[in-house]
Amino acid sequence: MEIMKTCGNSQARTAGMVLPRCHFCGQVPEKGIRGGIKIRKVFICDRCESHIVSLQTGCSEYRYLLEKLKKIW
Ligand SMILES: [Zn+2]
Repeated sequence: MEIMKTCGNSQARTAGMVLPRCHFCGQVPEKGIRGGIKIRKVFICDRCESHIVSLQTGCSEYRYLLEKLKKIW
């Protein structure tokens, strides 16, 4: 999965503010909280959100992500 490639290079803090970390890819978006959506306590970045939306309903990856989401919702 393309979104898994980059990891561990993100800064979680800017000016003392804790930035959200994406639940799926573990990335902290540059735009912070505005770089994605927050569902209850879980944050999903724009890239992962559009990735989930673009997946074909019924494909195995879609079902996998759906299972992850079910645990949140
Ligand atoms: Zn993400």
